Amino acid sequence: MADEWEATGPASVLLIDDDPTALEFLRDALAATGHRIEAVSESARAATLIESKRFDVIVSDIAMPGLDGLELLRRVRQTDLDLPVVLVTGSPSAETAIRAMEFGAYRYLTKPVSVAELRRVVDYGITLYRMAWAKREALRMATGIDGIAGQRTALELTFERALATTWMAFQPIVNWSTKEVYGYEALARSDDPSLGSPLALIETAESLGRLVALGRHLRSLVAAAIPTLPPGANVFMNIHPRDLEDADLYDPQSPLAKSADRIVIELTERASLEASPDALARLMALKNLGYRIAIDDVGAGHAGLATFARIDPDVAKIDMGLVRGIDRDARKQKVIRAMTGLCKELKVLVIPEGVETAAERDALVEAGCELLQGYLFGRPQRTPGAATF
Ligand code: C2E
Ligand code: CA
Ligand code: CA
Repeated sequence: MADEWEATGPASVLLIDDDPTALEFLRDALAATGHRIEAVSESARAATLIESKRFDVIVSDIAMPGLDGLELLRRVRQTDLDLPVVLVTGSPSAETAIRAMEFGAYRYLTKPVSVAELRRVVDYGITLYRMAWAKREALRMATGIDGIAGQRTALELTFERALATTWMAFQPIVNWSTKEVYGYEALARSDDPSLGSPLALIETAESLGRLVALGRHLRSLVAAAIPTLPPGANVFMNIHPRDLEDADLYDPQSPLAKSADRIVIELTERASLEASPDALARLMALKNLGYRIAIDDVGAGHAGLATFARIDPDVAKIDMGLVRGIDRDARKQKVIRAMTGLCKELKVLVIPEGVETAAERDALVEAGCELLQGYLFGRPQRTPGAATF
């Protein structure tokens, strides 16, 4: 893309704010500068624009419905390490300021922003970006190394760094009637600030084509942690649909396979299993190795009942969207009661996730659930411990 772009002439500025008045203010403030201004109020639309068009600087509000400014910034950084992103907020906090820095925001401004300040920051950002472009071009001329490829290398370095500091947190899954811990769900964590959330880590692996490497690493972490878990506790482990295509997963000699009888492999309903024609055969292979299979996020995905029946899962994990506020929602109660009853007939264990309040817990128990997971019983932790009942 660097070739199509010039370091002179009018610059392109993208402005994002869900508040029309604030957006108008930004647009007016920059109107006389001669820059090409694109102003959007929906952050999802901004995300699409960023993918398809080249901008020299982005000015974005932080608090917005859907994608917020920080998430937008994180996405930009996955493909462009230089593009200056100015974050603007009406309610500054240490937390957002720190995250803005971690994700590489160029400036963090507090509303009300003065026109002069905004112009200065934007113009300086444009100059910086053009300087970065010129430096990449110079590098390319001198060494033949492609600047954009260089960015990929930087992202790869970030990914490697995150991978090296990745560990598994364990969240208890409880049996409410016996007041025992039934098992733990392993959830990936990284100490690297830019890829601390498991979803960010997975998304980056995806964009770098490193999902298989990530999956193998996470499985080795789970295998290594098993001896530290209470004896007999079941271990729930998430896999990405792409992991199903990795031969390593089916190696009966792998450290994980040795504990297969304790492991429940969670596969999300959010991803389409129909996309992978032999997914079913592969799940059967896993069952033959002794693993149990859970369908994750039931109620949040598109997988039809046919898929559910063909997979013949051992466990159904109910998405927290159905759990949240169930005590005050008769429709949700009805759905969960139906699911629980049907799953009992199919000999499928049901585990609602994301239980946060005693009222939600009671409504779920009332609807026929026995196994439960959520902050109410314990957060994901480095050392898997007792649960709170
Ligand atoms: P998930 O599999 O649906 O995991 C449940 C998520 O809900 C976890 O988020 C967990 O920390 C969170 N959670 C648990 N109880 C509560 C609660 O009471 N309230 C609320 N608000 N949240 C609760 P986390 O750890 O950020 O993981 C996000 C997603 O990342 C997971 O969703 C899973 O899809 C993926 N993931 C995490 N670890 C791995 C992994 O090792 N491999 C793969 N492939 N995916 C993973
Ligand atoms: Ca899960
Ligand atoms: Ca889930």
